[in-house]
Amino acid sequence: MAYDSSNIFARILRGEIPCKKVFESAHSLAFHDITPAAPVHVLVIPKGAYVNWNDFSANAPEAEIVDFVRSIGAVARQLGLPASGYRTLSNAGSDAHQTVPHLHVHIFGGKKLGAMLPGASETQ
Ligand code: AMP
Repeated sequence: MAYDSSNIFARILRGEIPCKKVFESAHSLAFHDITPAAPVHVLVIPKGAYVNWNDFSANAPEAEIVDFVRSIGAVARQLGLPASGYRTLSNAGSDAHQTVPHLHVHIFGGKKLGAMLPGASETQ
């Protein structure tokens, strides 16, 4: 899948539309999700043009991968999440219901999040 530079996160990166920024590094940006699904719901994106995790893991330079992984951890710490716990999630492709074709990792926290997927046992 080719990268579509008209996607909403590319527009945020270009400064064409605003975001509620929480963190920025050399290669990554984090901002609040516009439709939060938990008390804390932040998106972390690479500044580079990558469609999703599949594209990024195969094609990004190591410096960008390191920066992105460290940024996700830094955002969670900045938001005070590690003590009580949090969830990271990245949808890739249509089966996962990816709606914005620029890699993003969701960080959810601030409450008991329950089982990972609908139907999954709470005790697993
Ligand atoms: P996904 O379904 O994994 O592709 O998630 C896309 C996420 O982007 C959703 O949670 C949306 O609420 C969020 N989103 C869409 N537009 C914006 C925006 N302009 N600013 C912040 N979050 C957005």
